[in-house]
This record gives sequence, structure tokens and C-alpha cells, in this order.
Amino acid sequence: MSTITKTIPAVNTATGKPRYSSRGGAKVRLLILHTMEGARTVDACGAWFRNPAAPNASSHVGIDDDDTALYVPYEFSAWTAASANPVADQAELAAFAAWTPAEWDAHAGLIERTAQWVAERAKARGIPLVRLRDQQTKTGTGVCMHVDITRGWGVGTHTDCGASFPIDRIIARAIQINGGDDDVLKDQTITNPVSGQPETLDVTIAYLEERVVESLKAQLPALVAKAVLDSTLTSEVDHKTQGTLRQFIGWIDRATNLSGKKLGI
Ligand SMILES: [Zn+2]
Repeated sequence: MSTITKTIPAVNTATGKPRYSSRGGAKVRLLILHTMEGARTVDACGAWFRNPAAPNASSHVGIDDDDTALYVPYEFSAWTAASANPVADQAELAAFAAWTPAEWDAHAGLIERTAQWVAERAKARGIPLVRLRDQQTKTGTGVCMHVDITRGWGVGTHTDCGASFPIDRIIARAIQINGGDDDVLKDQTITNPVSGQPETLDVTIAYLEERVVESLKAQLPALVAKAVLDSTLTSEVDHKTQGTLRQFIGWIDRATNLSGKKLGI
């Protein structure tokens, strides 16, 4: 069942022109979260996206404590994260980036609805429920905030959703909603490249820095290639970092002298 409770099309009411555009064939690989920084309800935000006096901007959905409103159909590119727009499904939360942890905690409905939306879009898009930061958003596949686009792509100045935004809690809840599954790796059996025996991956979300992955790949191309071939991880290994790869990392650990070095898990 969809998390959408209402639809408010992001269309300029004076011109009738949509405030969204074609994705140009781009594949969606990011779920980007924003804060509205003014509007306190999905209705107010939706009205702004329709207001002729407003700038040409939009988001796929808006989320508040009580509703999740669809503004832009998912097949189109919403206009809220500059050049990242074509590759993203995006949500504006009725919140402020300056909120404290206590202020976020006072909006359990908003947080739960956000987790539901993230879970839903991750499933629909085949996007793993892992957090991407900064540069990782340029090529990675996962969940991030607008600030990661600002820093990673060098576009704009927006810092939402703020330092206290509980993104890790939201991702953890989304995994739980999807059945304790990150939708990519759960219960997948891959062959242990060291023992040659099949093993089932644990579901443990963590982060392995891209530079570490690059280092491992440089040292162990054959091993990594075999692990990739033996699984359905495909290109995910290129960008992520996930603790769902704990065993894989363990095998690499044992097969190299990297043991004892911090792998970020
Ligand atoms: Zn934003």
C-alpha cells in the first residue's frame, strides 16, 4: 500500500506548466531528503509549488506528521537538487535543518512517514538502504540528504536536513519496514572466495569508505571480481560500503595483511 495520502500536482497555476521535467532516460539511484524550511504542512508546500509567484521548484513528495503528498510523478525529474535531479526520488520534510534532536523527536509521525517513504521507494527502485555521504552521491546508490549533494557535487548552498536529522534511525526503520531487508542483500547466498563454500550474507548495515574499497580492489582484483560474479551485488561493490558485506570484508581481511586496519564496519 502506497504511503501517499494525497496528490497536489506541482503545476504553475497561472501558466499551467508543470514544475518538473523528463529524466532524460537517467536511472534513479538516489533517495534525497530535504527540509521545507518554511512550510509546516504538505498542503502549504504543495501550494507553494503551484504558486505563480514561487520560483520554479518542486519535489516528488512532501511529508508532515499526518500526510505524505505526491507533487511530482516519479517518472519525472523534480526540481530541488540541481544537477542531481534526474537520478533522484526526492522528499521535502515539513521541518527545519536547524531543529535540535528534541525537536525531531517531537515529530514521530514525520519520522515514521519518512521511513515508510524511504522503504517504499527503495523497494520500487531497487535502491539499497544504505546512507551515502558527499562524494559518494556522485556515483553511488542509496539514501542521502541535500547537503551531501551540495558538498559532493559542488552545487548550491543548501545544508538540509541539518546536523540533528536522524537519518540513520530513519534508514534503520526503513530496513525494518521492508522486513529487516536492505532489499539487495538479504539472505543472498554467495560463494566465499576463500573457502569456495556458499554462505548467506548477514544483514548488517555499516559503511566501508570508497577509498578502502578502491584499495581492496587494486590489491585483490581477482578476489573482488569473483565475489561480484558469485553474487548479485554487481556494481554495488563499487560504491558502497555496506556491512552486509561484513563476511566479504572478513574474507578479504584474512586474505590480506589489512587485518587490524579500520575498515569502517
Ligand atoms: Zn533541499
